[in-house]
Amino acid sequence: MELVISLAHESRTQETQADRTKSERYSRQVLFRGIGAEGQRKLAAARVAIVGCGATGSALAALLARAGVGTLRIIDRDYVEPSNLQRQSLFDEKDAAESLPKAIAAARKIAAFNSQIAIEPKVEDLVPANIEALLAGMSLILDGTDNFETRYLINDYAVDRSLPWIYSAAVGSYAVTLNVLPGQTACLACIFPDSPRGMVETCETSGILNSAVNLVASIAATEALKLLVGNTSQVRRTLLSFDVWSNEHAEISAAKPRPGCRACGERDFIHLAGEGRPHITLCGRNSVQIHERQRPIDFTEMDRLLRPHGTVRHNDFVLKFWHDPYEMTLFPDGRAIIKGTTDTAVARSLYARYVGS
Ligand SMILES: [Zn+2]
Repeated sequence: MELVISLAHESRTQETQADRTKSERYSRQVLFRGIGAEGQRKLAAARVAIVGCGATGSALAALLARAGVGTLRIIDRDYVEPSNLQRQSLFDEKDAAESLPKAIAAARKIAAFNSQIAIEPKVEDLVPANIEALLAGMSLILDGTDNFETRYLINDYAVDRSLPWIYSAAVGSYAVTLNVLPGQTACLACIFPDSPRGMVETCETSGILNSAVNLVASIAATEALKLLVGNTSQVRRTLLSFDVWSNEHAEISAAKPRPGCRACGERDFIHLAGEGRPHITLCGRNSVQIHERQRPIDFTEMDRLLRPHGTVRHNDFVLKFWHDPYEMTLFPDGRAIIKGTTDTAVARSLYARYVGS
């Protein structure tokens, strides 16, 4: 009898210690008036999806995991490479040497500094067919992607389900972010009705500063905290951009939806229906064709941008780019054939990286 009592006492003591560790962990954040004990409880109950875990996704995941968001679902289709390490803060040299999927590497790293929250890694390409399975039941969606195709898909889904989401992007020294509260603020399609046409900058062609990434992730993670604790009146209602190199910054109002917006006005969810994405087909043995025909390409400029990343050759009709183990053939209207893979996700990823999305 005495033994039972003493064991029960011991387990009570251990529980108290675990509770104490838990409250110690977030004590400085709970002291902050905007969060408090009630806010911290709301964060613990929150479920947040981070789509894309490259540079921005890594920074967002790290900040929210340390802040005590109870469940983080990390969705990423890619593997860690040495060129990621300059800015993708959740990964290390061992992850790159093992070509570990980013979602898995991120989950391991986070578990090492916060074992009290749930991390759900998903090694998947977010597409219309799996978006419901991947995003249903989430309280908030955060954008860590590198392409407009996926962002429009997230926007359609979020507007359709009245789920808040935060757009974040960084390229070069430039960062931009927008909070989307469906039914209240402008959505992504209100501000950018169509994805940029023609030549677009990507991190692969224009480079990127890790400080631009961390700035945009810090702003977006703070907006996420406000949303999750229910302080929506403090949520920023502008498209905010900042160039950390030139120090130029701008804000344009996003306080109201744009009348006639395809997504939040007419509720015409073309991206959710799969109509907005470039048509991709397998073409011959070991190659994939991307039937994008609305992206006129300036071969001289593209040749210059791609040169640091592989061998490039072009004439008036075709541009060839060899990036081991792939060979990409580009046509002036934006169509591409990518040799070296039958995986449409890999082909789409290469196209998004080097040509645009
Ligand atoms: Zn809209």
